[in-house]
Parts: sequence; structure tokens; C-alpha cells
Amino acid sequence: MIAKQIAQNVALALALLGAPLAAQAAAEIIIVNADGPGEGFNDPTPVLPIGGNTGTTLGQQRLNAFQFAADIWSKQLTSAVPIRIKSNFDPLTCDKDSATLGSAGALLINRDFAGAPRANTWYHGALSNKLLGADDFEGEPVIRARFNSNLGQANCLEGGGFYLGTDGKHGKLTDLVGVLLHEFGHGLGFSNLTNGQTGKQQSNIPSSWDHLLYDLTTQKTWAEMTDAERVASGINSRKLIWRGANVTQASPKVLQAAPELRISGMASVAGLYQIGTASFGPQITNNGPTSEVMPVVDQADGRGLACEPLSTSNAQAIRGKTALIDRGACTFSVKVKNAQLAGAVAVLVADHTAGSPPPGLSGDDPTITIPSVRITKDDGDKLKLALKNRSRNRSGIFAALGISATQRAGADEQGRLLMFAPNPYQPGSSVSHFDTSASPDLLMEPFNTESVKRNLDAPFDLTFPLLKDLGW
Ligand SMILES: [Zn+2]
Repeated sequence: MIAKQIAQNVALALALLGAPLAAQAAAEIIIVNADGPGEGFNDPTPVLPIGGNTGTTLGQQRLNAFQFAADIWSKQLTSAVPIRIKSNFDPLTCDKDSATLGSAGALLINRDFAGAPRANTWYHGALSNKLLGADDFEGEPVIRARFNSNLGQANCLEGGGFYLGTDGKHGKLTDLVGVLLHEFGHGLGFSNLTNGQTGKQQSNIPSSWDHLLYDLTTQKTWAEMTDAERVASGINSRKLIWRGANVTQASPKVLQAAPELRISGMASVAGLYQIGTASFGPQITNNGPTSEVMPVVDQADGRGLACEPLSTSNAQAIRGKTALIDRGACTFSVKVKNAQLAGAVAVLVADHTAGSPPPGLSGDDPTITIPSVRITKDDGDKLKLALKNRSRNRSGIFAALGISATQRAGADEQGRLLMFAPNPYQPGSSVSHFDTSASPDLLMEPFNTESVKRNLDAPFDLTFPLLKDLGW
């Protein structure tokens, strides 16, 4: 059939950075061992059984973990056609501090088959076979999965290898089953077949993903855009949404209310700001008091780093207020602690590097009791300009950190999920994941998260609702 094609460049890497199942569902998933003798799944190195994985060789334990993750997916999906995943363990890119864990994507894609929901539209091979009700690829694997065989060895995140148990108790190791659930999700349909960096579609034909990916600025789907419009949309952070009914309907059952920063008092800076939340200090779970914003100024060039205990004049300026501090020179928690000691009630850390959305504030300090968030460099610059008109302890600009009455963390005001679209573009991550502002964390966010999700459907997760939107 002319419509079939080998998928190009759709494998998505997962970088290390830090339920109840439908009873009637069933789809057979077959792990096709593509490793050579003595390596990967065939590695004969003896190992002890671990965390529910009874294999006694390294290769067998790897295979068991793959089959375990495949079985979780197979209970969720329905298809009359077995889904074959060509799988390897190979040496992949890594060094002392970072590593590619593995990747997976569609190996074969299809269009204009009998039963296709949309004409002239690409579908992942596994989904097209399900919709067709027959194997259009004559037993060929439709998904490709490659994982890093060196992970945890010398010069490859040494000591930080895969946990091969199936019970999720992975400790400091990387939970292979959790990573596999994520990666298989990509292979089954959770990835755009259109290149978000160049805007180019495969053979100038839109993917099923393109029809549901919607830009709030241009008010167009990716299927309606030119290549150049898609390139711009791919970095339109927190303005790119998923317009599928199943995800939108399920999102209030899964996501918590969104934290928000509202600035008021001066028209030129008033409004809602994009924020990155802190991993230390209190979680923003309710509406705190509104307080005046005052900058810390402790550098000759006008910046305020707050890396040292604050001077008397800075302390007087921010006491009882929201301190605006610049990123740089010391950790976020040191800055926030210094502001707290000087009497600030909240902290805004302005980024020193352009880009959006603002990432979270990492770090750890159990003695921090005030909330803090990161704002973008652009927003920080805008606030600092407006703050030039302040007196010694009054600015007339107010900040309120609180919980949105209308919005869930990771969705827009209509409950439509935000898709990951950072600026600059992140190949392998952008456009084909949920945005990192989702809370609680979702399986299909771009980074390996600590919390392992073994549930793919609402009220725990939104991975399966998205696949349903595509036709699963
Ligand atoms: Zn991914």
C-alpha cells in the first residue's frame, strides 16, 4: 500500500535530569528481542532476583522488565493485532554526569487505510493496525525501543543504573519499568510525526497529532499551519494546547488547582505571570496575602543577588513584603533564606537568562518557611523598570501568590492540557509531551520524574485519554 511509510526521526529520547484497568481491554504486545548473542537481552551475567523480577541473568531481567511494562499497556489497550516492539539494549550516549536512558518511537506509520478516522493523515503503525482491524505490516514490528546498556557503569552515570525490579522500589536507581511505560507511550501514538523544529510534515501530510495540537495565539491547529507557523508555535510556551475531548474531560479529575502570581497596582505591569515553583519552602496551596513588591539591590550594577545577609537598608525595604531578587552567584535556597531572615513574606527570583517558561527553583532547605517562585528575565526586567519609581519602602506594585479559581496546574482555563513548548526548542522533548507545569506529575512529561506512574488513565494520569483522542 502506497500510504505506508517508514517513520523518520520520530524516536524521542528521555533524558535523565533529575490502577484499576479496564477489564474488557486487551491487546497483545510482543517484545521482539533484536540483540545479538551475549549482549543486551542475551547478556548472560548472573544476577540475583530483585523486587519481583525473578530473572537470574542480566539479559533475562531486562526482558522481564520490558514484558512487565508491556503487560501494563496491553491491559489498557484494545487491538485485534499484536503490537510488536523491536527492542535492543545498546551503548548509547553518556558521560559521567548525564546519559541517554533510552528512546522509543513509531517504526512504521500509515495513512488512508480502511477505517482511518481522517483522510490524508498519518497514524502510528500500532494505532492504524487497531483501526484497520488487521495487520497492514505483515508481522513487522511497528515500534522501536533502544535502551542504554552502559547506564550505571564507569563514565556513564556510574552507580546510577537501571532498577530492574518490577515493584517500583527503585531508590536512587532509575526505574526501568517507569521509563518503559513512558517510552512505549510514545511508540503507541504519544508523539508528533511532524518535525516541530523545522515545521515539516512527513511527505507534506499532517499527522493525527497535528489535528489536535492547537495554538492559542494563532488560533490554528498544526494541521492548518504553514511550516513557519509550526516553528513559531513549537516555542510558544504555555500557549500550545491539546484540543482532544477525552483529555479535557478527564483533566479536572487528575490535576490540582494551579498556583499563580498576580501583579497589581500599576497598569503597565499588572496581570498574571508565568512562574516556576520551588522544590523547597511551603507549597502554594491556598491564597496568601497580597504584599508590596520591593527589590533587593546589593550589587554596583543595580542587581540584587541576596547571597549574603541583607544590609540594613535592604532589610528595611523588604520587611513584610515580596522581595524581588536576581538569579546568580549562589543557590536559590540561600537567596530565599536571606530574604526570609530579613523579614520578607515571599520571594520572586528573576531569571538572568532569557527564555520561557521559567523553570522551577531547585534546591533543598527545610528551614525555609516563605513561598518563592521564579519569573522570566523579561518579566523581571519589566518589574525592575516599573520599580524605579519606588520610595525607600513603598513601590505601589503588589504581588499575590495563590491558587487559581479557574485553572488547573498544567491546563488552560478551559481544562485543555498545555503541551511542552519551551523556548528555545528542545529536540526530542518539545511538542510531544505534556507541559512540566502539570501537577501532580504526569507520566508523559519530558523528564524522568521521581514518582512512578503505573496507572495510565484518569484519575491518576492522562496518557490513555490522549491516546483515546487519537483513536485508541
Ligand atoms: Zn518522552
